[in-house]
Formats: sequence, C-alpha cells, structure tokens
Amino acid sequence: MWIDTHCHLDAAEFASEEDAVAARAQQQAVTMIVIPAVARDNFATVESLAHRNSNCTYALGIHPIFVPQAREEDLAAMRVAVEAAMTDTRFVAIGEIGLDFFIPILTTPEMREKQEFFYTEQLKIARDFGLPVLLHVRKSQDSILKYLRRINVIGGIAHAFNGSFQQAEIFIELGFKLGFGGAMTFTRALQLRRLATTLPIDSIVLETDAPDISPAWVHPERNSPEQLPRIGQVLAELRDMPVAAIAQITSANALVAMPRLGVVI
Ligand SMILES: [Zn+2]
Repeated sequence: MWIDTHCHLDAAEFASEEDAVAARAQQQAVTMIVIPAVARDNFATVESLAHRNSNCTYALGIHPIFVPQAREEDLAAMRVAVEAAMTDTRFVAIGEIGLDFFIPILTTPEMREKQEFFYTEQLKIARDFGLPVLLHVRKSQDSILKYLRRINVIGGIAHAFNGSFQQAEIFIELGFKLGFGGAMTFTRALQLRRLATTLPIDSIVLETDAPDISPAWVHPERNSPEQLPRIGQVLAELRDMPVAAIAQITSANALVAMPRLGVVI
C-alpha cells in the first residue's frame, strides 16, 4: 500500500477525469490520496472528491498563492468549515497553508504581511482543533519555523521539502514529516537526493503534488497519483532498501503525521 500525502486532484488539469485518475491510482496500490484545499471556494470540491472516491481524503486551508485574493472573512468561514468537518472521517488536516517568498507578487511588504497573517491564523485553527498542518514552504523556511515555534500544532508535513539538513532537523524536532516526490527522481537533484538518502527514514513521507512536480519519466507531462509507487522505487534505490519496506514505512509515517487517516484506512 502507498499513500500519496499531497495531490491536487481538484486541479483544472484533471477536470472531469478525477474519479478515473483516483481509480487508476488505486489499481497501482495507491490506497490513499490526501487532497489539500487551496482557497475557500474549493473547500466543497475537495470534500466531494474525498466522498466520491474510496481512496481519497481531504484537508482544508488557504494556500499562500491564493492569499492575494483571500479576504479576512474567509478565515472565519474556514473555522466554521473545519468545525463542521471534525465529524467527517474523510477530513484529515489543515492545508495547504504556508509562506511563498519566491513568487515576486507575493514578496511585496504588504503581501508578506498578509501571507504571515493568513499562515498564523490558520496555524491557530489547527492548534485549536488538534489537527496536523500541510505546509507549503518556498524560500520561507526560517519564517515558517519561527511561527511553528510560537503556535503549537501537533505536527504535520513540510510538503515538497527542499531545505537544509539543519532545517530538516528542526522540522523533525517539531513533530513534522518531510514530503518527497517527483523532484527527487532527477539525477541532477543532488542535494535533494542526499537528503532523501540520509534523513531518518521515519521522517519521510511520499507525495506526488500532482498535477505538478512530475517525475523524470513523466516530465513535462501532467503528473498523477498513479506515479507514486515508481517514485517510491526511486527512494528504495537511493536508500538501498526493498521497495516493500519503503511502501510500508512511508505509509506508517503518513499515519503518524495525519492520525485521522487511521480511521479511514
Ligand atoms: Zn500543493
């Protein structure tokens, strides 16, 4: 069994094929897919995908890339949606939230401040409901960590991790797992492959981030969750471990990161 801890199955790239994509992933033993939300107006979409497909669950959150158009009242609406979702076994985390200091329009002083506001308010929602967070971290490791130290969440996943060993250690100390996916399949990704090879195996979870971050054999075509076992095989080769052990350990790690998954699986 494999768990894709981060897949945007609601993305336009999958339009009208979502259920077929989830079914193909299931045939490849991807028995669970976590679909993070990105904005208030797609909360209902990710929820419905998770209810329609037996191997899908969802998270609720406002992604940093959608912060420019987000309004403060969206946070109040999110708190209400999260409270309602607590009785829904398909709901597993807060996400995708975080900080993106790479995209130019997101790095003006006002937009940095707005991002930090949305990030910290959503951390508080996660803390208040005892939920893990799925983090988008892009050129923002230190700010992400600063707020995680102040607002105590139970943990979660630093998705598409691409930081230093030192930053990895801090995430791990704070109770986080690190998400690895298609980027690790490129032989030129030396630092990322070093991380994937040497970080403690119990700190690693797998993800596709589909339709983005296609693995080397799919690039530049659309990524999809059925690629996860082959991505896992790359990790097995890097670490010189049996692929079955990688599947078992990374799935167990995902359950530690998102305890509510255990109710569905
Ligand atoms: Zn994402």
